[in-house]
Amino acid sequence: MDYYSGYINKLIEQLSRLPGIGTKTAQRLAFHIMSMPKEQAAQLASSIMEAKEHVRYCKCCQTLTDSELCPICRDAKRNQKQIMVVEHTQDLAAYEKTGRYEGVYHVLHGAISPMLGIGPDDIRLKELMQRLQGDVEEVIVATNSSLEGETTAMYISKLIKPTGIRVTRIASGVPVGGDLENIDEVTLLRALEGRTEL
Ligand code: ZN
Repeated sequence: MDYYSGYINKLIEQLSRLPGIGTKTAQRLAFHIMSMPKEQAAQLASSIMEAKEHVRYCKCCQTLTDSELCPICRDAKRNQKQIMVVEHTQDLAAYEKTGRYEGVYHVLHGAISPMLGIGPDDIRLKELMQRLQGDVEEVIVATNSSLEGETTAMYISKLIKPTGIRVTRIASGVPVGGDLENIDEVTLLRALEGRTEL
């Protein structure tokens, strides 16, 4: 790729590090950025930096938010005794879009994967266990139905069982290997309603 400017090569290299972006897409994006008005490119760059500077993890549920506690944890109308455990903030957003779940969440930011060397200490499980010291009636495990998601669900169930707190798993209406964020609202609700004891 020496026939490009060194600067463009660097931009392509950075973009291709993003998930799901291959070299071809990275090139297309880089040339698109080059064709943007300077102001627009500056906005893109500063949005990245602003988000990195201001977004943090909610002290309670660990989702990404602007304040110490996210709006869901702050909402007195939500049932704080029911915690849905999800892998990513996007999964939380998927359930929020249904508008029908009244409990709160816990975001793990990943799933246990022995193959990738991701263990229980690499996701936000400790924070979940700390929350369970409080008044909690049910933990709904809504990790993905991938191998990693199932491994994580079994692990969580084993951890929580001795505490006497009810542990449930969303029904398998969610296709195997499917990410929650790509699933329609009706299926998500059906999976929630059909949840079973773990
Ligand atoms: Zn929160």
